[in-house]
Amino acid sequence: MELTVASNNRGKMAEYREILEPLGFTVFSQSEKGIRIDVEETGTTFEENALLKARAVHQLTGGWVISDDSGLEVSALGGAPGIYSARYLGLETERERRQAILSALRGKSDRSARFVCCICLISPEGKEHYFKGIWKGTIAMEASGENGFGYDPIFVSEDSGGHTTASLPISFKETHSHRARAVSALLDFLKTETRRSF
Ligand code: IMP
Repeated sequence: MELTVASNNRGKMAEYREILEPLGFTVFSQSEKGIRIDVEETGTTFEENALLKARAVHQLTGGWVISDDSGLEVSALGGAPGIYSARYLGLETERERRQAILSALRGKSDRSARFVCCICLISPEGKEHYFKGIWKGTIAMEASGENGFGYDPIFVSEDSGGHTTASLPISFKETHSHRARAVSALLDFLKTETRRSF
């Protein structure tokens, strides 16, 4: 069975291959399928954006398709940056975006935040399924740590013992993160769907 991931991100592809190939899927990235589209994320929710990407690829490839959309929601900022996490305030670099969040929270007592990941799966018949993972935590007073990417240096998950995600080994994120949780739900579904087991 063929499955296309609506992404060309190497890290994401490696993660998905590791999980899906043991289930009997042959996994392709968008570019491996010769698809060179850049879908505009015009949705207003993680679900809508994941669906836009998955649907665009499904129309071209058929078969199984997955796509995901993720971001950081900060309570005191009304849920921002949310679906705009990759382009928060139009700032160019990840460092600038992290600094903008730290500045916006200066003097605020509520530093609670969460990472969200929504995976959209489209079956060969065109049926849509969603799998969501949420990782709760707080925003640190300052950035620290070298691992991961994006907002990892300023996010302290509730299960981290007070460390930023970027200060912990990558393996911690692989088993605890919003993405890990969404992937685990996807896996449960596909295991049943394909009637296979590891
Ligand atoms: P996308 O889902 O790949 O479009 O990611 C959207 C943006 O959300 C990224 O560019 C990051 O800024 C942020 N983000 C999503 N997941 C993570 C994470 O695991 N760590 C840090 N930042 C993340």
